[in-house]
Amino acid sequence: MLARDRIGDLTASLARSAVMVVVFAMMPCRPAGAIYDPSKNYVESPAVAARFPDPATPIATPALRADRRNFTGYAEMTKFLGELAARAPDMRMQPAGQSQEDRDIPLVIFARPPTRSAAELAANGKPTILVIGQQHGNEPAGGEAALALALQLAGERRAVLDRVNVLIVPRANPDGAQNYTRGTLNGFDVNRDHLLQWTPEGRALGRIFAAYQPAVVIDSHEFGVKTRWFEKFDAVQRYDVLIQYATVPNLAPAIAEASEKMFRVPLARALDAAGFAHSWYFATSYDMNDRKVSMGGVVPDTGRNIAGLRNAISFLVETRGVGLGLAHMRRRVESHLVANNAIIDITARNAAAILALEKRARDDVVAAAGKGEFVVAGVATPGRNTLLMLDPETGADKPVEVDWSNALEIRPTLTRVRPYGYLLPASQAAAAERLRNLGVTVLRVDGDGMADVERFRIDGAVVAKKDDVRRNDEDEVVKVVNLTTVIEKATLPVRAGDLYVPLDQPLGNVIAAALEPDTQSSYAANYALTFPGPRDPDRYVRVYRVMSPLRTPTAPWSGL
Ligand SMILES: [Zn+2]
Repeated sequence: MLARDRIGDLTASLARSAVMVVVFAMMPCRPAGAIYDPSKNYVESPAVAARFPDPATPIATPALRADRRNFTGYAEMTKFLGELAARAPDMRMQPAGQSQEDRDIPLVIFARPPTRSAAELAANGKPTILVIGQQHGNEPAGGEAALALALQLAGERRAVLDRVNVLIVPRANPDGAQNYTRGTLNGFDVNRDHLLQWTPEGRALGRIFAAYQPAVVIDSHEFGVKTRWFEKFDAVQRYDVLIQYATVPNLAPAIAEASEKMFRVPLARALDAAGFAHSWYFATSYDMNDRKVSMGGVVPDTGRNIAGLRNAISFLVETRGVGLGLAHMRRRVESHLVANNAIIDITARNAAAILALEKRARDDVVAAAGKGEFVVAGVATPGRNTLLMLDPETGADKPVEVDWSNALEIRPTLTRVRPYGYLLPASQAAAAERLRNLGVTVLRVDGDGMADVERFRIDGAVVAKKDDVRRNDEDEVVKVVNLTTVIEKATLPVRAGDLYVPLDQPLGNVIAAALEPDTQSSYAANYALTFPGPRDPDRYVRVYRVMSPLRTPTAPWSGL
């Protein structure tokens, strides 16, 4: 009896294996493509789907082949890029870092004359544009459009390289792309990791920014079509493309003005001309009772905002895609391509003006050290807005009135006098190392002395979940300690080996975002600076605002 059961089990097992072999044989792309479960897709009603016809132009990237049933896998992507590089004289490639699953993060460099060298690019007199794809793994159209853009720059769009350099990171989060998850392998969100750089993926992007100093940045994403919108407003997304430039306190006014007038207006015209409906970027939380809709946030740790604080013109470009699987993939990729090419053409047309504008913005930040005030924290302005959405059944336009959080008008909630720099005790070298990876110059104090400082006395410390305009309970829970501090003036001893981060450098506003402790993005709030517990009698954050030029000698610090 037992033996027969075993034979039965064995037969059943062999039968299952045979079925699996047949299933694999029927899915030729499965081993190459990203891991992805089509049964979890949102399937639009036919009337909604009909609103989004495929463009006629063919796009010759792996996921857009006819009969394709999966996204481009990692190996397919590297093969595609390798073959392209072999025949594209203006294209070079190099790994920008490794992901947590040890995948190279490729950086593709288009330049005339061709080079991998950041110094050569900086010296060729052309602005550099950085296109980032797939910080979020489950937003494939941006990554696919990055491949399509590389194909164009290797072919019919070559001539634009006489005016601009183009860097492409098609997969900033290659593990997420392969596993079809938003976050990295450890569940972190790369697009909230630009200041802290807990992840190797975030550090790789930080190094690219630091080395190549792009003048223009495009961060490519996709937004959810149904989830939240259906539950809150009985509607689904109608816009093809949502765009937003940097909206962060302390952004150079000239960068903000050029982002709107020089870039957004003609970008919007290009999307109109191509037949893509567009709007400002917006999101809403996963709390179904919260019906507020927010523009992209005003905190400095996203790619869009940190690029702005790096004095670049920076655009978030999101397409209608999350949850759709492969539906409308050609249209989604084409809409990214139209946006990318419009931004590249605007940069090419205004190359000299953009280089001058950014040099001025950097010089202004350098000159501002020790003068005036900066904004430590600010909030978007509440208002109302009407969004165009779709009836989920009939596909008819459905205007939806919403409470709106307007990131174009930031109300400062905390401002402070801008110091000359920040002093960190030698014990905080790990925090200084994070800044160095971002491209910040850090100095080592080379003697003993005294300094006029302001120190942060901790007045309140509350551990809380990190707030976000998305507020998704499925995201990795990031706990921060929200600090309230009181500034105290003091004259304190400075010791050889302490670290000094001067603000008379182009990344002055990035440094302030990291080191002023009272925001949830700060190094202190995220445990990247050590500070005493709330019951400790010495309740000071271990970073000091230096309020007059440092009198102690310093030398360059080469890091940990
Ligand atoms: Zn995204």
